[in-house]
Amino acid sequence: MNTETYRFQVGAFDCIAVSDGTLTYTPPTFPPPATLLFASAPPQRLDQTLREHNIQPEQWLEWVSPYICLVVNTGERRVLVDTGAGDLGPDTGRLLRNLEAEGVAPGDIDTVILTHGHPDHIGGNTTGDGRPAFPNARHVMWKDEWDFWTSERAELELDEHLKEVLLTIARKNLPAVQDQLDLVDRETEIVPGVRAIAAPGHTPGHIALAIHSGGEQLLCISDAALHPIHIEQPEWCAVVDFAPEQAVATRRRILNMAAADRALVTAFHFPFPGLGHVVQRREGWQWQPVETAG
Ligand SMILES: [Zn+2]
Repeated sequence: MNTETYRFQVGAFDCIAVSDGTLTYTPPTFPPPATLLFASAPPQRLDQTLREHNIQPEQWLEWVSPYICLVVNTGERRVLVDTGAGDLGPDTGRLLRNLEAEGVAPGDIDTVILTHGHPDHIGGNTTGDGRPAFPNARHVMWKDEWDFWTSERAELELDEHLKEVLLTIARKNLPAVQDQLDLVDRETEIVPGVRAIAAPGHTPGHIALAIHSGGEQLLCISDAALHPIHIEQPEWCAVVDFAPEQAVATRRRILNMAAADRALVTAFHFPFPGLGHVVQRREGWQWQPVETAG
């Protein structure tokens, strides 16, 4: 199967899940995967849940995470959601190549939506020479998120671990697009059919997107869940969740919306193409990936 691009339709909108590559999270740079992703999980339950997902806890030494950006062609607008990680890792920064293979040139993108300021979501804002990679695009971000990363707050409030890499990339890749920036501070349509949904917790101003066309909905949850196990165990927070209690409340709200609306869901870090449905269970929810074989 092609794990670089995947085309699908949401009503009249042509969408493409576009891989930016993968990053392998290994100690000592990162905590072991079980800690990185499920820091707040009770150890016994975690052990059992991992086994149910065919993960042998004692052999789970690294997390190979997909990075999946999204293109939505509404007919009027060509929207890109997140720009990937750029040169963060040896297997990241494939976004532009993969867009080109689908016939999308950087200049064709007129709207870039940045769901939050983490390196793997803004790392492709610039090209090697520091210039905007999407020169004709208005870049849209939640105001609190922009303010956090571009003010003293990030310096003061981020955990020491990973702080340097987070700040270095934010300080390079956010100011580079400030001349083409639009900040939103309420749940509003960014372009017709694409609505910002406040989803704070993972970062201070993280957003989700509700994309509607022809009676169909795509809910882009970005990092409101990092792993399919978070759908079943919404209380289990990741080390990288900035405000864990708020992240859990947001996750519950988003999962409720997804299940109630029977929306197609896209998640940035899930197995490629990151598409599926959230199904309500007696207790909690479950992730059902779309069938993409063939
Ligand atoms: Zn993130």
